[in-house]
Amino acid sequence: MLTPAIVRRNTPQRYRMEAAKCAKCGKVFFPPRLICDACKSRTFKPYTLPQEGTVVSHTVIRTAPRGFGDEAPYCMGIVELTDGTRILCQIADCEPERLEIGLKVAIEFRKIQEAGESGVIAYGYKAVPER
Ligand SMILES: [Zn+2]
Repeated sequence: MLTPAIVRRNTPQRYRMEAAKCAKCGKVFFPPRLICDACKSRTFKPYTLPQEGTVVSHTVIRTAPRGFGDEAPYCMGIVELTDGTRILCQIADCEPERLEIGLKVAIEFRKIQEAGESGVIAYGYKAVPER
């Protein structure tokens, strides 16, 4: 039987926004690492990233890689979350003209890609401007 705990354990970390926090110095890594580059500790605790942040850098992809052609143009950006962690992700539901440094966003779980004829759908996180 699939209990919520089993589903959670088997869900890839990219779906859960789960980072690793160094147990010794507190530095946060996303994606998680095996060794802390600040203090060389190998002990980490699971850490769930905040779901809100601010765009600190951005670009518009007009020539998309294979598999994403239907979506171009689309926005990508570096988002600084409220705890200071920075992540790179797509900024969805955002007209390129609206994209600016300082834009407040929320992190949402969205469809990333549907793989051609097989129809396999990949999910992950995207930033969405706050309304
Ligand atoms: Zn550390």
